[in-house]
Amino acid sequence: MSQENCIFCKIAAGEIPSATLYEDEEFRVILDVGPAAKGHMLVLPKEHYADILEMPEELTAKAFVVAKRMAQKMEQVLECDGINILQNNHEAAGQTVFHFHIHLIPRKKNDKIGLGWKPGTLSDADKAELLEKLR
Ligand code: AMP
Ligand code: ZN
Repeated sequence: MSQENCIFCKIAAGEIPSATLYEDEEFRVILDVGPAAKGHMLVLPKEHYADILEMPEELTAKAFVVAKRMAQKMEQVLECDGINILQNNHEAAGQTVFHFHIHLIPRKKNDKIGLGWKPGTLSDADKAELLEKLR
């Protein structure tokens, strides 16, 4: 099902033109219009799910298989030194388009693309709490 006013639904359905790199019955892979690096692409399911938490497991698995295949092509063709495969869920995590998508970002050594974080520390108290709550 597509959702009215969702730009990625319209792009995935082909109602809005996009730079499409791959398409099958369930997915479309497009170039990001605001790329972090040349070749930054997005894997979009054609069905609307806001984020990974809403996605059925089988479709999630397939989406990551599509991402892996595109990553192999990206490495061969763009000769990049690395690839980030990432996915944001909810505004607090940086999601701006609320239709599930996977980012593939080609990386070059020392390209200065800022996706990192400053490592904190895992305290014994946090570790105990998290093992208790999340295991
Ligand atoms: P996120 O912040 O994870 O929700 O990522 C949304 C991504 O979609 C950003 O990298 C945008 O540059 C990209 N984007 C937004 N609108 C379009 C569009 N019409 N076509 C292609 N990419 C888009
Ligand atoms: Zn949508």
